[in-house]
Amino acid sequence: MPEPILQVRDLSVAYQTDAGPVPAVDRVDLDLAPTEFLAIVGESGCGKSTLLFAIAQLLSPPAGVTGGSVVFKGRDMVRLTDAELRAVRWSEFSVVMQSAMNALNPVKSVAAQMLDVCHAHTSMSKAEIRKRSEEVMRLVSIDPVHLDSYPHQLSGGMRQRAMIAMAMLFTPDLVIMDEPTSALDVVAQRSLMMQIKELQRELGFAVLFVTHDMSLVSHFSDRVMVMYAGQVAELGGTRELFERPLHPYSRGLLEAFPSIRGNKEHLVGIPGSPPDLARLPEGCRFAPRCPSVMTPCSTLVPELLAVDDSLVRCHLYGNGGEGAGDAAGSGSRGSPTAPPGTGEPGSNGSPDEPLDRELSGTGRSS
Ligand code: SF4
Repeated sequence: MPEPILQVRDLSVAYQTDAGPVPAVDRVDLDLAPTEFLAIVGESGCGKSTLLFAIAQLLSPPAGVTGGSVVFKGRDMVRLTDAELRAVRWSEFSVVMQSAMNALNPVKSVAAQMLDVCHAHTSMSKAEIRKRSEEVMRLVSIDPVHLDSYPHQLSGGMRQRAMIAMAMLFTPDLVIMDEPTSALDVVAQRSLMMQIKELQRELGFAVLFVTHDMSLVSHFSDRVMVMYAGQVAELGGTRELFERPLHPYSRGLLEAFPSIRGNKEHLVGIPGSPPDLARLPEGCRFAPRCPSVMTPCSTLVPELLAVDDSLVRCHLYGNGGEGAGDAAGSGSRGSPTAPPGTGEPGSNGSPDEPLDRELSGTGRSS
């Protein structure tokens, strides 16, 4: 098993408010292998974007890391100085934000923004920067003539590709993506995702990908982390999770999306809303919405348990729980957060080999 490129341990984030700290991310552990594609899913407010920002050390007050570590290529990012972080950002890991129109500077051309990035992180000459900028634009299938365009002159898909091109300027080992396709129609979404996977195969970087779109997850990720109320509810291989979701919340997420194959099925939403993080329920945070709630759920806090090659936070899989079965509580994994196999891109949920539950987050087929 390759050495993880990223090891997150016990990472917690809180927002400081007048009423006290509000925990948004609670003791998250994860490992990411080189070239692995890990999707992080969950409803709005579950902490997935906050987790990404904490990993990238991009949180700003009132949010802040309250505990844990983010070891990237041997360095704990939480403890790096601003100058040390500046040396790592862009060159070793880069971030693609949710809305390119908001992330790009509207009064600068794409070329000028790439120039700024290169000036901040390298000593390349202007001619070298222009050459590299043209190369990365070609990488994302945009004619370099558009380097001289302003963001408003590009389509939504082209803007997002330009963001990815900027993220590729120094061929990083890790690319962190926060819902990069959420503003695109399904055709542009798929095209962009295919491009990202192709780049990943070609350049060999790892991807942390936040989304609420289960169809993208099923097609493109190697593993999936399901978050609920700031905690990891389930973490496992994409195929395993789609074929046999363990946590009732994971099941609810899958049942809330239509399949474009097989018989028409009645969609079942998850009742209720996520809890107020400032007033979390006792016991399991999902208990007020859970169809499988049991007696201990409202008082006992569930811990993450190893079930086969996955992790799940649910009393159904504890000692004697109904879901214990032959798989529950096997506890056989040496490192429960470790990625399986080599993490080779496309090893699970490849675009060429879609899962049975092929999904469309918008209800439209792609
Ligand atoms: Fe549902 Fe109980 Fe499992 Fe929580 S611990 S997800 S309430 S069954």
